[in-house]
Amino acid sequence: MQARGQTGATRTVTRVVRGIPTSDGAGVKLERVIGQPQLPDLDPFLLLDEFGTDEPQDYIAGFPDHPHRGFQTVTYMLDGRMRHRDNHGHEGLLVPGAVQWMTAGRGLVHSEMPQQESGRLRGFQLWINLPARDKMTAPDYQEFGPERIPVVAVRTGARVKVIAGAVGEVRGPVVQPATDPTWLDLELGAGVRFVHAVPDAYTSFVYVYEGAMHVGPGRDARVSRQELAVLGRGTGIELEGAGGDASPSRAILVAGRPLGEPVARLGPFVMNTAQELRQAVEDFRSGRF
Ligand code: MN
Repeated sequence: MQARGQTGATRTVTRVVRGIPTSDGAGVKLERVIGQPQLPDLDPFLLLDEFGTDEPQDYIAGFPDHPHRGFQTVTYMLDGRMRHRDNHGHEGLLVPGAVQWMTAGRGLVHSEMPQQESGRLRGFQLWINLPARDKMTAPDYQEFGPERIPVVAVRTGARVKVIAGAVGEVRGPVVQPATDPTWLDLELGAGVRFVHAVPDAYTSFVYVYEGAMHVGPGRDARVSRQELAVLGRGTGIELEGAGGDASPSRAILVAGRPLGEPVARLGPFVMNTAQELRQAVEDFRSGRF
């Protein structure tokens, strides 16, 4: 897992992108980082939203009933509570630190509604594409409470929650063979380093949500809060906390195997062809989700 000393193999930052403020659902304010004009997608990742506000009017209306087909959504709550319900009888409550990994597959209609009238609601939603052969699979959920997400205290002082993928011998609970995703939630104090190995061909990015981090070999780039660093190829990722001394900097590190397939997308439907999108709209309208 150590890539130290192999600077040729360490990934450098190829782009830094800021999210754009937007609103979705019935008026939930959020930052759209992937899935916006500057970064339409990052194969196999289709969308990344960060939501975070202390103002109930920014989230209280939630995300009432809406459909999905053809990919997976992963919701990671940092603060607040959200209830999820769908038209196949699934229901779940996301609490702080919990993860929901939903496979929309051939289609479902669901709602994602805040379960609080005050206080902070904060977290992420990531959309991960499915390969053509799995797009019409049955809908499925994997829900993991905070106690199911292992935390690794690395010798350097880094603290890492492993949602998907592995840090040393510690594996996160989520497994997805096609895209083989890694999702780590990192806390790095100022000057604290973290090195992570990743297959050369995989897509990867780092999104800083508190403080700042140096990303790349030799502190290649300083990435600030609400900036996403897209990384080039290589077999190692190197990070170092670059925030103040008062509190650690925090970021998510995400990686996965690109699918290399055509993407046809229309809102909550992501397929391979325009014909499949037309079919998705028709199936949804005629109640076949
Ligand atoms: Mn949804």
